[in-house]
Amino acid sequence: MSYLVLARKWRPRKFSEVRGQPHAVRALSNAIAAEKVHHAWLFAGTRGVGKTTLARILAAALNCQKGAAPEPCGECGSCLSIQEGSFVDLLEVDAASRTKVEQTRELLENVQYAPTEGRCKIYLIDEAHMLSTSSFNALLKTLEEPPPHVKFLLATTEPQRLPVTVLSRCLQINLRSMDSGTIARQLSFICQGEDVQAEGGALARVARASGGSMRDALSLLDQAIAYGAGAVRETDVADMLGGADQPSIVHLLNAIAAGDGEALLEGARELRERLADPANVLAELASALQRLALIQVVGAGVVDEDHEPGLLAPLAETLPADQVQLLYEIAIQGRGALPMAPDPGVGLEMTLLRMLAFRPDAPVKHVVSAGSAAPPAKAAAPPGPPPDAARTRSQKAAERSGSAGSAARPPPPAALRGAHQTQPPPEAEREPSALPAADAARETSAPEPSPPPAAKSALDAGGWPETVRDLGLQGLSGELAAHSELVGAANGCLRLRLDGQHENLLTEDVRKELRAVLISALPSFSEVEIEIAGAGQGGTLAGRDRAAERRRQQRAEKEFREDPFVQASLEIFGSDVEIGSIRPIDDAGTTSSP
Ligand SMILES: [Zn+2]
Repeated sequence: MSYLVLARKWRPRKFSEVRGQPHAVRALSNAIAAEKVHHAWLFAGTRGVGKTTLARILAAALNCQKGAAPEPCGECGSCLSIQEGSFVDLLEVDAASRTKVEQTRELLENVQYAPTEGRCKIYLIDEAHMLSTSSFNALLKTLEEPPPHVKFLLATTEPQRLPVTVLSRCLQINLRSMDSGTIARQLSFICQGEDVQAEGGALARVARASGGSMRDALSLLDQAIAYGAGAVRETDVADMLGGADQPSIVHLLNAIAAGDGEALLEGARELRERLADPANVLAELASALQRLALIQVVGAGVVDEDHEPGLLAPLAETLPADQVQLLYEIAIQGRGALPMAPDPGVGLEMTLLRMLAFRPDAPVKHVVSAGSAAPPAKAAAPPGPPPDAARTRSQKAAERSGSAGSAARPPPPAALRGAHQTQPPPEAEREPSALPAADAARETSAPEPSPPPAAKSALDAGGWPETVRDLGLQGLSGELAAHSELVGAANGCLRLRLDGQHENLLTEDVRKELRAVLISALPSFSEVEIEIAGAGQGGTLAGRDRAAERRRQQRAEKEFREDPFVQASLEIFGSDVEIGSIRPIDDAGTTSSP
């Protein structure tokens, strides 16, 4: 009994069966429907995404005995023999094994003869980038002006290796690497067709392991069916792929959340006994933490159907959002550091212990005193949590209500609060700040312009920036005012001096607009004169704001660098801070824009 591998058995035979490449299908079917099929097509994309499959379907559509149609019938002699690879007018060549120019010439020898069976003679050149330069040259002339009955279909994983002379003669179709959701759905569809019992989590795991290649996914599914003796279970697939199954990952996370070092190490040992690859375990951990973070922000409903949200949902309740972020970071870093570990098992164990060390109730002081060397001077986005993350929620609550523990530690520096948004904000706004989206909205919303009670401000050079601010001017006239200082206010005439760097603001329209606003807000003036000065004056609103911003930035950077928690994090992660990434926060707790 012969067994046809799934990838061949379930290879799409019609455009409607192709998954994950709607743009390509649309371009090809439209071209056929309009009877404007270009004579040379290049299918580009990573392996196993459907390059030759689409090329074959195109060949069938052009040669289908029921007439050229946007969709081949899949039943006639031509369609069937194209599927079987026995159609005489479809010449398939693997360029990787026929790179020589003689072979290319030989292939093109009969190009001028009419097709034998079908309407079109089709040259399908797979791995086209492997052809030698002289082969390309031999191909070029025919590619430029092929006989009307000839189509060239080139497929390649590396289009950049094709000469531009070839690229420019082909219509290029870029195929996407497939997302794991699309692959998992197709696997599920195939399992139903094959009458194979498959767990959703198992298929999701196969889909993720396939790296976006449907062909790889189907090969893995073949393997999994054999491994599970006809059924596809998640634990089996996890073992087969050297990964960790969902329950084992949840077990590890539960142990971390509970601070149970024994259970954590026990879980790690079990995984190692099942020959789980530490890199895969950490990848699965990171993936579970990402889904946890999603659940915390938008609820369990958004998590893809491949995972059982029921397993993770309780953890979303117990693990604080900032800790989830931190654990994710530790998992990613730990995975990257595995090659440096004495052996991968040790690397995994240390990474898990680090997750435990950064639990909310692990005192930060302990972590700091455990470090020996002086912290490095600079650091990238701070991977560690702010001091607040290293406290339990109950402690935080106790501190908020003013009971024991509030004097135990100093408040974190402003920059840190801004960067992580973990400092409990004032009671009234705590809820919205739990959502990043809400924070983003607050950060981007511009301050409301106040109505112009400008007359209240003292009208002298020193008070001028205040006056400009109170006017609440928007747009270019606001810019013009902000970059101008007041040099005179007498005899009904306001005299302004514009910072020379912003000379281009001074157009007639903008000048008129500003004049109108000033005269209506300051009725004792009827004329506004604006002159242009050298750069860098201090008496403007913009100049004053710049100076204040610089001072705030310097203060934030200093506080951030001196914070003991930041220092401990830098040491543990061996990372650097990008000083430019530190943003001060204003009194309302929002970060200022860069
Ligand atoms: Zn047909």
